[in-house]
Amino acid sequence: MCKVIKQLYAQKGLATFTEREDAARFFGNRDLWESFIHPEDKPAFAKAQYQLEKGKTIRQQYRIYTKAGEMKWLKGRCIPTLDENGKLVRIDGIIEDITAEKKYMDQIEYLATHDYVTNLPNRRKFERELKTFIRQMKKDRGSLAVFHLGLNRFKEINDTLGHDVGDCLLQCIASRLKKFVTPDVMLARVGEDELAICFLSLAHINECQKLAAALFQEIEKGITIDDFSLYVTATIGISIYPHDGEDVKTLLTNANLAMRRAKEIGRSDWQLYSPLMDSETYKSYHLEKGLRNALLQDEFFIEYQPKVHTNSREIDSIEALIRWNHPEWGRVSPENFIPLAEETHLIIELGDWVIENVCKQLQQWKSQGLQTVPVSINVSSKHLLKRGFVEHVQQTLAHYNIDPSFIEFEVTESSIIQYEEHVKKVMDELKKIGVTFALDDFGTGFSSLSHLKDFEFNTLKIDKTFILHATDKGKQQAITKSILYLAHALNMKVIAEGVETKEQLAFLQKHECSFIQGYIISQPAAPQKIAEYLKRRFL
Ligand code: C2E
Ligand code: MG
Ligand code: MG
Repeated sequence: MCKVIKQLYAQKGLATFTEREDAARFFGNRDLWESFIHPEDKPAFAKAQYQLEKGKTIRQQYRIYTKAGEMKWLKGRCIPTLDENGKLVRIDGIIEDITAEKKYMDQIEYLATHDYVTNLPNRRKFERELKTFIRQMKKDRGSLAVFHLGLNRFKEINDTLGHDVGDCLLQCIASRLKKFVTPDVMLARVGEDELAICFLSLAHINECQKLAAALFQEIEKGITIDDFSLYVTATIGISIYPHDGEDVKTLLTNANLAMRRAKEIGRSDWQLYSPLMDSETYKSYHLEKGLRNALLQDEFFIEYQPKVHTNSREIDSIEALIRWNHPEWGRVSPENFIPLAEETHLIIELGDWVIENVCKQLQQWKSQGLQTVPVSINVSSKHLLKRGFVEHVQQTLAHYNIDPSFIEFEVTESSIIQYEEHVKKVMDELKKIGVTFALDDFGTGFSSLSHLKDFEFNTLKIDKTFILHATDKGKQQAITKSILYLAHALNMKVIAEGVETKEQLAFLQKHECSFIQGYIISQPAAPQKIAEYLKRRFL
């Protein structure tokens, strides 16, 4: 015992023990040492003492308060000696003051776990603490919410006003949000323009709305930095433990997914994670449901847009364009639902529906005594490749008594490139029975016309973006001219899409583009209107 005290006595840092009478007080009273120990470290210290009594060598680190009230970190190694009865009779050991080392380590730990711009915990710390929180919630059978908050337009501010302004902005927002931090709320910066907040012991999911509103309110208050008045908005995605995930990774991923989803729908809003959001599933769920329903509820209809001879304006043919009239969303553009229908395989059912309805329409016009013209139908390569496509088309045509030469399929170059050989085979079979093919949106893909000539398209449709810029005397004009030149050389019928102005028309006339389609002649129109056109023949 005496030896231990002597060693203690020699330790630098324990300044107040330097007086002999103080040191002497430790001789008979082992508990006196314990009274200096930091309350939080007392249980571990007591445990170690117990080991010592059992004869085990111990190593430990703990804090003490000196008489002057200063906190010190100590590192000790003690070796006990027991007598033949197993009684502790002597302890040899070394105790070291490691306060400076600890401070240094703390600094390193702080730097490794905090963001230096905002001084907020970083992602690493957030994840670590979240793990502890989850453990606690599991024990308490409680819920917690992870908010993933993205600052909108932050990157633009950073790029246009500089990083100093961007940093100030972040600091300002961080300090505003710090007021939410309590022992039950953790705030961290987890990305360049992203913060994460964890709210512990959530009573009800409804609380999330209030919390999100409070966060938005703080963020959206105007900020003035240097001479700039900035207005920032945020988007929040939320995931809930245990509902949306039971571990750190899942909760963070899902909150992030919900945030991205909220951004897609419209910025500065919040969104709770939904398991259906897992990208593909979410999209297909809503749209497939909507599209399927639309087929059942007759929400689709077809409009027709005439294509005319450039000089005489006589109707040459018409294009069938699908329309979706959604009961809540109103008119949904095919640009939006066609790509999704392609992803969900519904494009096949949709395509069949269009083919059938076009044939029915042609039959109706015929029965009204009108002189019909060929109708072109946009078809996806996925549909074209569906086994039995050729037979199905043949059967439909036969059923409505339609001459195959009255049907033209429009395909885009990008859609055929992937399955060239197979597409070509199907095209050849259909061409054999008299159906024709047009290459739609030409110029928007990557293939060359010389490559595409192997498909032997009857018609080539120059994409509307080229027509839009055809009169601009730039690269686009040069491309348009050369497409026309090449198509003539290859003996293809050329149609310019999206002709809107007289200037565009004049340009196309001058360069001998034989057919045009566009608002200048007619917008896509209902069948009754087309019936009138067919009577007039010239538009
Ligand atoms: P597309 O086949 O290239 O059709 C031409 C698009 O340009 C149509 O858009 C048409 O309304 C529009 N348009 C026509 N004239 C003008 C004009 O003068 N100016 C401008 N700015 N636009 C004009 P829409 O109806 O929105 O269709 C978009 C695309 O959706 C179509 O492009 C086609 O690829 C696809 N689509 C439409 N109906 C069907 C269908 O039944 N099946 C499939 N698979 N795709 C379809
Ligand atoms: Mg088309
Ligand atoms: Mg087109």
